[in-house]
Amino acid sequence: MNPNSVEGAPHSDSMQARLKAIFDQSTVGIAETDFFGRFTSTNGRFQNIVDRTAGELTGMRMQEITHSEDVAHSEILFAELARTGEPFTLEKRYLRPDGSHVWVRSHVSMVRGEPGGAQSALAIVEDITEKKASIEQLQRQWRTFDTALSHTPDSTYIIDRNGRFLYANRALLQRWQKTLDQAVGKSFAEMGYPPSLVQKVEQQIQTVVETRLPIRDETSLGSFTPTEHYYEYIFVPVLASDGTVEAVAGSTRDITDQKAVQHALFHQAEELTRINADLEQFAYSASHDLREPLRMVSIFTQMLQKKYAGKLDAEGDEYISQAFQAARRMEMLVRDLLAYTRAAMAGEEEPELVDANVVFDQVLQNLRPVIQQNEAIVLRTPLPSVRIHEVHLLELFQNLIGNALKYRSENVPKIQVAAEQQEDRWVFSVADNGIGIDPAYAGQIFGIFKRLHNKDEYEGTGIGLAICQKIVERYAGRVWVESELGHGARFFFTLPVSE
Ligand code: ADP
Repeated sequence: MNPNSVEGAPHSDSMQARLKAIFDQSTVGIAETDFFGRFTSTNGRFQNIVDRTAGELTGMRMQEITHSEDVAHSEILFAELARTGEPFTLEKRYLRPDGSHVWVRSHVSMVRGEPGGAQSALAIVEDITEKKASIEQLQRQWRTFDTALSHTPDSTYIIDRNGRFLYANRALLQRWQKTLDQAVGKSFAEMGYPPSLVQKVEQQIQTVVETRLPIRDETSLGSFTPTEHYYEYIFVPVLASDGTVEAVAGSTRDITDQKAVQHALFHQAEELTRINADLEQFAYSASHDLREPLRMVSIFTQMLQKKYAGKLDAEGDEYISQAFQAARRMEMLVRDLLAYTRAAMAGEEEPELVDANVVFDQVLQNLRPVIQQNEAIVLRTPLPSVRIHEVHLLELFQNLIGNALKYRSENVPKIQVAAEQQEDRWVFSVADNGIGIDPAYAGQIFGIFKRLHNKDEYEGTGIGLAICQKIVERYAGRVWVESELGHGARFFFTLPVSE
């Protein structure tokens, strides 16, 4: 086909027809005005938005159906358009005949007619009433919610998808020293937050919008007070009914005090651990180094006794005997103290799995002379394997069974060892039919050198149960006793169930 042929005319007609069809059927409103702002043509959708017919609109001035609060702004933009030819977008309200208004977003550009001919403005108009309403509703809802929360010092706020404040509660406005009107529409940067924080939160808001997942974080920046503060904040997506993120709700809490307490506690715990280790080391060295001179005292009093017994008067003999007894007792105390500090310090490495039945048999072997001497019966139920250093379990059984034998009553000693699983721990028990313990003292007996009897009644230093306690605590366990005076005692200790 020859493009220069006269058949070009019908072609241009069909183009016109197509453009008209687009104009008529468009789902966005289209309106053309002359430079006095009078409508020259409007499409169906536009008529629909403003609820007026084409006939009513044609020749009508746009300002007549614009909300009075939006007229001035819109006129300024139109004047700019005439001057510069730069298109603009504005949000404004059109009035409908029934008195209601409709929010629109209008993109306006200049259309030049024939050379020298009149110019006109073409507006592409979108109804955003619903969007506006949902944001207003959000602000309203938030305000209600916020009133309920107004007694909290936390800041609560809503931010739009672009990181601009839509709402801020009283606490936040107070911190900013701003009114809500001054804050709405402002970005974090405009509210005076430092650039590094602005960059971080803006990125986080984008992430919340994209992932629809909340974000929690802390910052020491953004303080509106002269001293350094710590804040914890959370951003939560506010979803529209179609599932998209409409806005981001935020809440910020000042955790400065909490941080300070945490900090202090952490240092205290560190300090305590250090002091404890020092003390253990000290007790160990002291008891270790005391042994040698004590042995000498003991040996020389013994020699004195051998050489001079009967050669001094009765008082002299008595003094030597007293000194010898005291030295021996001191030796026992020091030996046990050493055993205690060893229980506290030994075995840093991961313990192996130990069969408690085997350890029990070993303890019976060790205690055989005492058992036989007392004609005691020592029984056990099947025992589990536990992750513990073998010497520790040995020490536990030996101390508890040893005590059950030592603190026997007139009856034939009957001792029952058992273990029962309770959730993630084993509860071991050693029960006897001995003299029992007054429950009032049941807590004290686990202290170092704590005894309920003097050395003449029952031999001992009062360290056995302290060692037991020290051991089980290493395995995050617990030791306790249930007893009644004259009715035997049942000691319990727990160890973790190994995986
Ligand atoms: P020790 O036996 O050397 O005195 P322990 O620390 O083993 O030290 O025990 C502390 C105290 O607890 C004992 O002096 C005793 O009064 C009491 N005790 C321990 N075991 C029993 C028991 N099985 N029956 C009654 N009293 C007990």
